[in-house]
Amino acid sequence: MFAFAKIWGNETLLRYLKKTVQTQTTSHAYLLVGKYGCGKKMIADAFCRYLHCENLGVEACGVCTSCRLFDAGNHPDVIYITTEKKSIGVEEIREQILETVGLLPYSFPKKIYVIPNAHTLTPQAQNALLKTLEEPPQYALFILLAESTEPLFQTVLSRSIVLQLPPLPDDLVAEYLQKNLLATADTAKTFAIYAQGSIGMALELLQDESFAALRDFVLEKIRQLPKMSLGDALLLAKEFENYKNDLRFLDMIELWYRDVLVAKSTKNPNHLIQQEYQADIFAATGVSTANLIACAEAVQLAKKQLSQNGNFRLTMEVMLMNIKENTKS
Ligand SMILES: [Zn+2]
Repeated sequence: MFAFAKIWGNETLLRYLKKTVQTQTTSHAYLLVGKYGCGKKMIADAFCRYLHCENLGVEACGVCTSCRLFDAGNHPDVIYITTEKKSIGVEEIREQILETVGLLPYSFPKKIYVIPNAHTLTPQAQNALLKTLEEPPQYALFILLAESTEPLFQTVLSRSIVLQLPPLPDDLVAEYLQKNLLATADTAKTFAIYAQGSIGMALELLQDESFAALRDFVLEKIRQLPKMSLGDALLLAKEFENYKNDLRFLDMIELWYRDVLVAKSTKNPNHLIQQEYQADIFAATGVSTANLIACAEAVQLAKKQLSQNGNFRLTMEVMLMNIKENTKS
């Protein structure tokens, strides 16, 4: 539990954090930045435990007083900031940090404050925190975890060592799912792609029934599209507006055409990512390779346009018309 060895990927970052402890060169503030579910909290936990361990080795020892307190969730000198709200406000900063940061640590050399979801700190909360970040007591250490640096003041960023956690390679996420959840190779591969480099996200998707339902719905519509009337296709564009804020349905469509192309060119079902749709995928190979590539490109173009704030409904209409045109029999 909470060991560096349990964390997948990010080797360079972990080596760096360990080294700062070993050489006693830790900074007073770190900001870990990475997308949802990428392991920020796990890294912060391992770092806190290592920082406080009384018998430092390659890992924290797991048996000293500090390690035992930490593992029991009772470490007096590691404080996790919590909130019931969607953002962390000035009250939380005042009550949970400012009122206690002046008091010496209970029994260990450092007093660590971990701020999860630091990207939700309100401007007032950031202002309240700023002075302490600028002139912290020598025993204080802050670890901020954020999905993005954008909402944070430049002054907050410049007071912290900013460490980016890049997305993990799909293969690594898939391997994790296979080893830890005994997912089949195909399922692991599919969900690794949807999770875009985040193990936490992959775990969530695997357990999320609405995700599976969305995929069934979207792929069924895409299969029907070639035979749909023009009016129904336009209605579908309207229906997709329900997923405006969750563009994973576009990844689903793109992955579908990837599999149809693979099925067409290799004739080998083992190469498909979405094995569960095998029969449907092979049934869709009746159109030319060039047309299938055009379909995949239509999805990519739609994604690009939406990322540039293109009109959603219009983008969907164009994409669906394009796919329809390229898959008509
Ligand atoms: Zn220890």
